[in-house]
Amino acid sequence: MKKHNFSAGPCILPQSVMEEASQAVVNFNDSGLSLIEMSHRSKDFVAVMEEARSLVKELMNLPSNYEVLFLQGGASLGFLTAAYNYLPQGGTASYADTGTWANKAIKEAKHLGNATVVASSKNANYTSIPTGIQAAPGSSYLHFTSNNTIFGTQYKEFPKVDCDLICDMSSDIFSREVNAADFSMIYAGAQKNMGPAGTVVYIFDKDKLGKAGNSIPSYLDLQVHLAKDSMFNTPPVFPVYVSMLNLRWLKANGGVAAIEKVNQAKADLIYSEIDSNPLFTGHAEVNSRSNMNATFRLTDESLAADFDKLWNEAGINGLKGHRSVGGYRASMYNALPLESVQVLTETMKELARVKA
Ligand SMILES: *Cc1c(COP(=O)(O)O)cnc(C)c1O
Repeated sequence: MKKHNFSAGPCILPQSVMEEASQAVVNFNDSGLSLIEMSHRSKDFVAVMEEARSLVKELMNLPSNYEVLFLQGGASLGFLTAAYNYLPQGGTASYADTGTWANKAIKEAKHLGNATVVASSKNANYTSIPTGIQAAPGSSYLHFTSNNTIFGTQYKEFPKVDCDLICDMSSDIFSREVNAADFSMIYAGAQKNMGPAGTVVYIFDKDKLGKAGNSIPSYLDLQVHLAKDSMFNTPPVFPVYVSMLNLRWLKANGGVAAIEKVNQAKADLIYSEIDSNPLFTGHAEVNSRSNMNATFRLTDESLAADFDKLWNEAGINGLKGHRSVGGYRASMYNALPLESVQVLTETMKELARVKA
């Protein structure tokens, strides 16, 4: 039986995407070749890369000066790529510290210049999103993490600044409508809401590249990749293909506006259960709650074995919280059906029936 997959990442993708991808591994486009054994310069694969890039443009409604690349290294290399392309050596960039991933981004930017923390929710154990964020004077950009996968917090409104705005959108890209034109650069590792692990998408205003004046190692230089249409070196052909199929699926299902409504319904369902069930309590403050990753715990930890048994028996996977937060985390990415959240809330109700 297929599991109700609440894994935080790598995570659930639509079943139809899995099936089409598995076909392509055997025989792609009736070519007599597997997708993963053909040249990345073949007509068939170049068409995949171009469709993936153009689907991002279409689904995010990008202005014509925005470009899209599918590279490697995950969002973790994106931290450094962001700094190399937008932070002049020795310059200043502002960072919002909302948890683990934000801190990793700050660490990498320090290779280039002063990564100044201008807002932090560290003292509140990252249960909230700071408000009123301003960039430090002289900043090249403000960097923030739109959704904090581990702590289960999410920006509901984005900071407004005079400098460039850069965002790690790894765990909520394509989950809700955003005005991409507000951002100089967005990047996102694929494996949370776009595809399998192995590729990271960069979305940026191409007119703003090359302004930092840095000597940039080739692989980290977005201009190098753009000049080669995302084929500077051998691209991760399978992750790009599966991401493309997933974006096709999203488009066929009404695009970002439609999935945003489903994501809201899923989030409303889980949070109303957390708030009404006396056996559970949420981690994040109500107005900072993530629609992608709901973090919560038992009010009485001695019920953990009972609850774990219930959700395991219900066919639920991936509910354990991150080790730094504990408790539970229900990751509800685009491909997770509302029905899976209903199954989860039923097990929570069942625990209350038996134990409350
Ligand atoms: C998972 C995650 C990352 C790290 O992504 P990798 O692709 O593993 O490097 C970075 N930022 C956020 C918000 C994440 O959720």
